[in-house]
Amino acid sequence: AWRSQGGPSWSQERTLVAVKPDGVQRRLVGTVIQRFERRGFKLVGIKMLQAPESILAEHYQDLQKKPFYPALISYMSSGPVVAMVWEGHNVVHVSRAMIGHTDSTEAAPGTIRGDFSIHISRNVIHASDSVEEAQREIQLWFQRSELVNWVDSGHQASCYPS
Ligand code: GDP
Ligand code: MG
Repeated sequence: AWRSQGGPSWSQERTLVAVKPDGVQRRLVGTVIQRFERRGFKLVGIKMLQAPESILAEHYQDLQKKPFYPALISYMSSGPVVAMVWEGHNVVHVSRAMIGHTDSTEAAPGTIRGDFSIHISRNVIHASDSVEEAQREIQLWFQRSELVNWVDSGHQASCYPS
């Protein structure tokens, strides 16, 4: 395997990533998955859904007083989203770097928002912004039974037949 499991500095963290309705409409689901896979993260949950307002209200509970909140809920309800749970070392922090600044105008080229979005109100993707938020959001969007604890085959002895 190109990396080893375990060791004191290897965290197995999880985060919630969602391709927002504009990302689905623009056929960016595959691109997003490819970027996370290539970075080295492990997909442990994925589903497409028309997000119910009950989930969106909880998901964005901290933004309910913001002037753009109604527009945000309407945007997030405008079509299906693809929700995913990704696992790996420091995945919360690294995912935020990969998606880029919330305001697409400030998002660096090379980031998902910096490559595929020009406006904060249609910024293609969500990723949890802290480990605590990630746990809350994963529980909100996924049942425990929808997450798959699969083992990297590169970590199994069967990969190295004698
Ligand atoms: P994020 O964690 O980078 O997604 O950013 P926030 O948690 O601050 O905001 C959640 C989402 O609300 C953003 O991704 C945008 O889709 C939307 N949003 C945030 N700020 C604004 C704003 O000023 N105007 C509009 N229209 N949408 C916003
Ligand atoms: Mg946020």
